[in-house]
Amino acid sequence: MQSGNLYIVATPIGNLQDMTQRAIEVLQSVDLIYAEDTRHSKKLLLHINVKTPLSSFHDHNESHRTKELLQKLKEGKQLALISDAGTPLISDPGYHIVHQAQQEGFNVIPIPGACALITALCASGLATDRFIFEGFLPAKTAARKKYLSALQYESRTIIFYESCHRIVETIKDCIEVLGSERQIVIARELTKTFETIHNAPAAQMLTWLQQDMNQQRGEFVLMLAGYHACPEEISPEAKRMLALLMNELPLKKAAKMTADLTGIKKNRLYEYGLSISS
Ligand code: SAM
Repeated sequence: MQSGNLYIVATPIGNLQDMTQRAIEVLQSVDLIYAEDTRHSKKLLLHINVKTPLSSFHDHNESHRTKELLQKLKEGKQLALISDAGTPLISDPGYHIVHQAQQEGFNVIPIPGACALITALCASGLATDRFIFEGFLPAKTAARKKYLSALQYESRTIIFYESCHRIVETIKDCIEVLGSERQIVIARELTKTFETIHNAPAAQMLTWLQQDMNQQRGEFVLMLAGYHACPEEISPEAKRMLALLMNELPLKKAAKMTADLTGIKKNRLYEYGLSISS
């Protein structure tokens, strides 16, 4: 008996031309396609002439469907998983099934294609050598600010998905927590008619968004430049950190540790330490 395979198939994030030939062929050849929203996916499948049966697979039925799906793999069936848009499992369901399928020794075969975060990053103008993806920020302001505070000194480019309902409030929180000068890039409606990629310091980004309601519509990827301390500047947090460490350690050691943690020059911190200890 042929062994069951699970294909993880990326679909477009807007422009249907971004469906790859390989993805179409896989979707045509499998026995069954699991889709996040079958009604939504039917339109895509119709467009690419795929007549394979569809079954629903979403957050609410993932554990029940996982058992069924594993059983089908055991029977040697060829299955595909797609989400509403882009790459399945990226802020979309499917993690448990991939994990389980691998645990049970089935092949999980990725069929690459569109993914909003990578599409946005490559055209952002921000550093691409090191980045982190944080999915969606918390919906409530207090939780969101706390989350952003924890990322304040992250030096890699930071990528979020954000909803049109929260984009303005989120930028306001970025200004409050990360400062008005932090470079922000918004990538809106990627691959669609109103695709916009806008790069500005946080305060200017807010003004730009507020001046045009159209820029607040659609789907968003939000990217923040990583933190880079000006070597001469000692932030209030670095001052607090140094003062705390100086209570426990010799100044030289405290200055070195603060420098390692913040990127501020060690000598500058040492001089500042001297000035507050005398
Ligand atoms: N799995 C998808 C992927 O590979 O990017 C992401 C799914 S997640 C539920 C949906 C979010 O991705 C949207 O709320 C938006 O933040 C982002 N997104 C999806 N399509 C987009 C597009 N065309 N332009 C900008 N952001 C998009």
